[in-house]
Amino acid sequence: MDPSEPSRRCRRCGKSAECVEATRMAIEGIFPSGSIYAYACSACGNQFKIDSVYRTIVSVLYTTPLFGLAGLVGWVAFVKYHMDPFNPTGMKQTDWMVLGVGAAMFLVGVVVLALTLWRVAQRFRNPPIDRPG
Ligand SMILES: [Zn+2]
Repeated sequence: MDPSEPSRRCRRCGKSAECVEATRMAIEGIFPSGSIYAYACSACGNQFKIDSVYRTIVSVLYTTPLFGLAGLVGWVAFVKYHMDPFNPTGMKQTDWMVLGVGAAMFLVGVVVLALTLWRVAQRFRNPPIDRPG
């Protein structure tokens, strides 16, 4: 329970959903990266998760270098492929491995960003309820 988090309107049934669990996240277990709030509707059992604002910001900052590195790896591989006069036959196996790592970083970036955007969307789909007092 995290009483500092407001109740939110359940998207499915319109009743109020309470924050049942607040999970503090940390990158590599060290760098704090905000909290994830799990909500559950007591009326219909609908569950959803909301990122804290801080976590949304950290997630975006976290994915930016991933995309940057992926782009850099792709660019280096492209230049190497086209500019290396000693290797005109094309890419070596290690080049493909480097490209694979770049592609993996890009995919992780896409997934993290998509999850972040989804949780941001949940904020608006399940708006907070103003409790009197
Ligand atoms: Zn509900």
